Amino acid sequence: MNPTNLRFNFGYLLESPAGTSSDITIDYPKMKLDDVILQPLTGQFTVTRTREGLYVGGRIQTNAPTECVRCLGDTIVPVDTQIEELFYYPASAAGEGEFAVDEDATADLGPLVRELALLALPMQPLCREDCQGLCPECGQNLNEATCDCEIDDIDPRLAALKALLN
Ligand SMILES: [Zn+2]
Ligand SMILES: [Zn+2]
Repeated sequence: MNPTNLRFNFGYLLESPAGTSSDITIDYPKMKLDDVILQPLTGQFTVTRTREGLYVGGRIQTNAPTECVRCLGDTIVPVDTQIEELFYYPASAAGEGEFAVDEDATADLGPLVRELALLALPMQPLCREDCQGLCPECGQNLNEATCDCEIDDIDPRLAALKALLN
């Protein structure tokens, strides 16, 4: 069974003096965080007790789902990103949009990991380096089949549009 969240109990750390830390390694074949499925999801981070709460620092590696900019197909891209965040404790010290350790001494790293994975996605993700994209005429996915459209190097209508824009 796959775990469905990244909630950890940090009771032992919260009772320790500032500076105490604990190393955590995660390794999940699949992790569903809200609407995002990350598979696999691995990570190594150190959780350190600070005066303000718990500081989480390390890295996560995963494959994040996205859409190819050329063919608009679903694709997954590998992501390797840094995790650096303070989880406030008590939670009342956290401002809006900040993370906190809950009263039961657990903290859910899921929303943070989800956000980091999505932020680490490339601006122009491709399903593969040589993705052929879609035919601008008929919309055929040119990775899957060719079409009979004749695409001139300079489409007259595009040229007209370009002139209009200029
Ligand atoms: Zn593509
Ligand atoms: Zn076509």
